Amino acid sequence: MSLFWICVITLAIMKISVFMTTIYLHRSLTHRGLELSSLVRFICHLHLALFTGIQPRQWVAVHRKHHQFSDGEGDPHSPLVYGLWTVLLGNALLYRKEAANPATVCKYTPDYREDILDKAHIKDWTALGGLAIFMLMFGWLAGLIAFLAQGAIYILLNSSINSICHVIGYRNFDNQATNVTLIAMLTGGEGYHNNHHEYPTSARFAMRPGELDPAWPVIVALEKLGLAKVNRIPIAKAA
Ligand SMILES: [Zn+2]
Ligand SMILES: [Zn+2]
Repeated sequence: MSLFWICVITLAIMKISVFMTTIYLHRSLTHRGLELSSLVRFICHLHLALFTGIQPRQWVAVHRKHHQFSDGEGDPHSPLVYGLWTVLLGNALLYRKEAANPATVCKYTPDYREDILDKAHIKDWTALGGLAIFMLMFGWLAGLIAFLAQGAIYILLNSSINSICHVIGYRNFDNQATNVTLIAMLTGGEGYHNNHHEYPTSARFAMRPGELDPAWPVIVALEKLGLAKVNRIPIAKAA
């Protein structure tokens, strides 16, 4: 396969992970801003398990703890507590440390509904399946490099939300988080982090004229297909 198509397919898989992270892990499972059909939940869980190694229940727990202690002691990855560069470059390690704490997972996810992938007890090995798929598609060396590249880009995008979007950017609302348009465009709307911290249960992250939430049209399309149901859209506070 040509380098061009290896890059296109690799970036497409990474981009799908980004959209599944914001729609499934974040807006649906964590904050219940929308419900997804069991089929969509299964596909998202499988894809993320293969290509990111994330276990949804752990992600939900760590992120809910982030909201509870936002930018104070107890926040698993606050740049105000750990420093901007530590979170930007070490967010994955900070995440892993908190995700590996069974007390955190248990405390913050009493409502988590296990699916068949949760019950399969293959949680720590799923990313090897993703690596195998990349190697089958591109050959072992190109597959290994492409798999690591998509993982690195995915980690960097998530890190930028947890670091930059708590320090640099503009604010619509009076909370520590910030909006960064470029990061929002690259992360399926997650860069509207100031909006999100003000209205965590909103399924839509863009709230002001000129803000475009790339995941929102996908959610609307899923709802039209009967695969999703939006629970809440807030009325934005006065400017
Ligand atoms: Zn945050
Ligand atoms: Zn959140």
